[in-house]
Amino acid sequence: MTRIYLDYNATAPIFPEVIHLTGELMTAPHNASSVHALGREGRKIVEQAREKTSELCGVQANQVIFNSGATEGNNTVLQHFSGQRVLVSSTDHKAVLDVLPGAVHIPVGTDGLVDLHALEELLKQEPTALVSVMAVNNETGVIQPMAEISALAHKYGALYHCDAVQAAGKIPLNMAELGIDFMTLSAHKIGGPQGVGALVFGFCGQTPVLLHGGGQEKSARAGTENVAGIAGFGLACEIARKNLPQYQKLEELRDRLENNLKEISPNITIYGQNVARAPNTSMFALPGITSERLLIALDLQGFALSNGSACSSGTVQPSHVLTAMGANDKDAASALRLSMGWNTKPEEIDAFLSAWKDITSRLH
Ligand code: PLP
Repeated sequence: MTRIYLDYNATAPIFPEVIHLTGELMTAPHNASSVHALGREGRKIVEQAREKTSELCGVQANQVIFNSGATEGNNTVLQHFSGQRVLVSSTDHKAVLDVLPGAVHIPVGTDGLVDLHALEELLKQEPTALVSVMAVNNETGVIQPMAEISALAHKYGALYHCDAVQAAGKIPLNMAELGIDFMTLSAHKIGGPQGVGALVFGFCGQTPVLLHGGGQEKSARAGTENVAGIAGFGLACEIARKNLPQYQKLEELRDRLENNLKEISPNITIYGQNVARAPNTSMFALPGITSERLLIALDLQGFALSNGSACSSGTVQPSHVLTAMGANDKDAASALRLSMGWNTKPEEIDAFLSAWKDITSRLH
């Protein structure tokens, strides 16, 4: 059976060039802190990757600290502000939402955009240390107004953290122009290896540190550098940056998908469709068929998608993103996310549409 992968926001297939490079680098024992020749070679590889990673987000190389991924990056920043007032968007990833139980949630509208008026009211109420709002939502693809959020945060003396995992390589990202103080990135969402990411620092003068021990990464992140993984991340950043204009073309494919879905299933709801979204993501719900049934039926025909539900302790809960956007539990329980990427072909979307037509008419 041909497998069609439409779940890039969960993890993207690795670019072939990255597989080749990381495989080759793993054959040599590189500890970038060793003083011998192999260590110095490892250091050079890491610094080259830092340069490439910085170019993807418009910063200088010395602003980039490599780590194990965005869960670590988000925890590093949020934990640093533990005990102080922190505002987090209610549609952010759990790797932000679950870090500080006392964090105050910023509401979003039905379109998924952060309510800027509510954010300002929250900022006026009490001195706030940090505002954390993601760049692009992993479920809906909705792009948050980062520049406005940072301007508001700064107006009230707060710093701005942005989880940019789903934005990197998908939309232009310039940290300085957007006024972001801390930004988290993850390699495996853009065609790099899993288990590598970066925390990028602006110029606010604060350096959150989670892992202590060695002096690696200018003492901002202890632990032997994952040289091959970091090199793969750097190369993935370089490819993603060069591919950005091409990537925007996915928007046409997504619009074609959504127009066809509306024709096949007139009752369908498409989340965030009237606001700016990353070009690769569509989240939709067809009330009456649960996403579990759809996912299983699609999986049997070779399609890999996700639903908006998080599975915890054996119970499937409705997506917190859709609930925050005002969706009722029934609609949220029907939602599917289709996310495309660098290797998605129009024929794959056509094949999905034909499977969707067949499956929904059968299950209804
Ligand atoms: N933030 C967002 C928006 C994500 O989509 C993900 C991945 O699921 C993460 C954070 C966690 O990233 P990582 O797998 O690198 O820990």
